This record gives sequence, C-alpha cells and structure tokens, in this order.
Amino acid sequence: MDEYERITQLKIERNAIILAHNYQRGEVQDAADFVGDSFGLSQKAVSSGADMIVFCGVDFMAESAAVLNPDKIVLMPELNAQCPMAAMITPEALRLEKQKYPDAAVVCYVNTPAAVKAESDICCTSANAIKVVNSLEEEEIIFVPDRNLALFVAAGTEKKIIPWNGYCPTHHLILPGDILLEKEEHPDAKVLVHPECRQEVIALADKVLSTSGMLKYASQSGSKEFIIGTEVGLLHRLRKENPDKIFIPATKYAVCPNMKMNTLGSIIRALEKKEHIMKIPADIRVKAKLALDRMLEAGRGD
Ligand code: SF4
Repeated sequence: MDEYERITQLKIERNAIILAHNYQRGEVQDAADFVGDSFGLSQKAVSSGADMIVFCGVDFMAESAAVLNPDKIVLMPELNAQCPMAAMITPEALRLEKQKYPDAAVVCYVNTPAAVKAESDICCTSANAIKVVNSLEEEEIIFVPDRNLALFVAAGTEKKIIPWNGYCPTHHLILPGDILLEKEEHPDAKVLVHPECRQEVIALADKVLSTSGMLKYASQSGSKEFIIGTEVGLLHRLRKENPDKIFIPATKYAVCPNMKMNTLGSIIRALEKKEHIMKIPADIRVKAKLALDRMLEAGRGD
C-alpha cells in the first residue's frame, strides 16, 4: 500500500477530509480533497459532512477552520507550521494601537491569530480587502498585519489607512530585479503578483491578485505565458489546471518553509494518532467568528 492509498483508507475510517492550501507541496495538494486559499478552504469544511478536517497549511488557517467548524475536529499535521507574518501582531499590541486611534475601525487580514481576529471589527482576504474597507462607516482604518496589503488597499480607497508594520518574509524575497529579469526573457508574459509583495514589485505587475484570482485569471486569459509573483507552490496547481500555458516563478526562492513542513507522512500520522487537535477558547472563538461573519456580509469580492 502506498502513502496515497493509506491516506484514503484512514480518511474513510475517520470520516475525514484533507484541505491543502495553494502553497503546499505538490504531493500534499495531490492528496487533498480540496486545494484553495485559506478562507475558501475553511468554508469548504463547513459544507462538508466530515467529522474531521486535516488542514495542510499554517497555524492561523487551522484556527479559522476551528472557529468556523466548532462541531468538527480540526487537525494540524505539523505543529511548527506557523506563519511568521501572523506572529507579527498580538492582541495586546493591537489593543494599544486601538487606544491611539479611538475612532478607527480595525480590519484584519485573515492571516492573523484567532485572538487578533477577536480584537478586530472585521476580517478581509487579499481578494476582498478594498471592498471590505469601503463597506465600513469609519473614515480611519487600522489595517493589520501586512503593511504591503495595507498600502495596496490605501491606493484603492479614499479612507485613511493606518498600516501595521508586518510583512510576509516569503513574498519579500521577490525583488523588482527578479521581475525585470524574467520579463526580459519572456517579453509577452503577463506579470501576476500577490498584494503581499513589496510596493516596487507591485508597480511592475500587470495584475495584482490573490491566489484564487491568479488561478481564475490564468485560465480565462488569452495569454500563454505568465510570470508568477507569489509562493512557488501555486505553480503546481496553475500548471495542472492549464497544461497548455507556461508559468514562470518570479523567483524560485519564494518558498515558504512553514507551508512546506506538511508531508504525506505527517498527514498519515495526524490521521492515525488524531493529532494535533486545534482548540480555540470559546470567548475568542465567538468574537473571531463575528469578525469573519461581518466579512461575509460585506461580500467576499472574489
Ligand atoms: S507565505 Fe507568508 S503569509 Fe503565507 S504562511 Fe508563509 S510566511 Fe505566512
């Protein structure tokens, strides 16, 4: 029996589903029932009849799945798969920031711990951030934790954006020189970059899109070549879904080591031992869910 067969066997025994983020290793994506962005995956879990969810991503994603699925067991195959950007903000630090700007609303990117979501008015994804900000009555917005996404939003709204100083170390590895170099070799390629990229990189893009946005754009576009400015794991799915098109990573170094911790072996171990169960304190879960529900009311936008 190979690893894929063992996973299928365990999934049936446990009535489990496997969710994999777009940045997971190719073999992990291939073992998953659903591959997608973090919030989309948590929603898939809600609509599934599974008792157990194995979330192949990083900590804040498993937390969101647990917040939205309190009656299901959410497993994180690798406890050390933690997002450094989400760790750049704490609820205590956010409370202090709120005291500095008492009239501001707090918008938090889904890439935050549940305890930070619980301190926020509303969540957003990279696809709907501008729409969410514009849906609010407040004119001042504290935007956490990604400063690049905050600046991208600031360019698309009249509201005053107060950015938190967090960033994604993986997207910061993509430099303007990388885009220019690839553009020289592939002059007809469309440049698609994620809003977590540096401003100088965003300035060179044809389109600034979330991972779901990139997948949709690539499949519908008449272009044949694309330079992709995000974590390289997305190329697995782009290539699989568009075998007639060419996808070039902006840089091969845009690898998130935390995302890559999950393996087929860790999925098997998680299902066999029912570990590691994600637990969220009830008070945090209720408040974090409110911030996520408000985002849904404002419209996902993707
Ligand atoms: S790619 Fe960036 S934002 Fe995503 S998990 Fe890795 S460090 Fe966090």
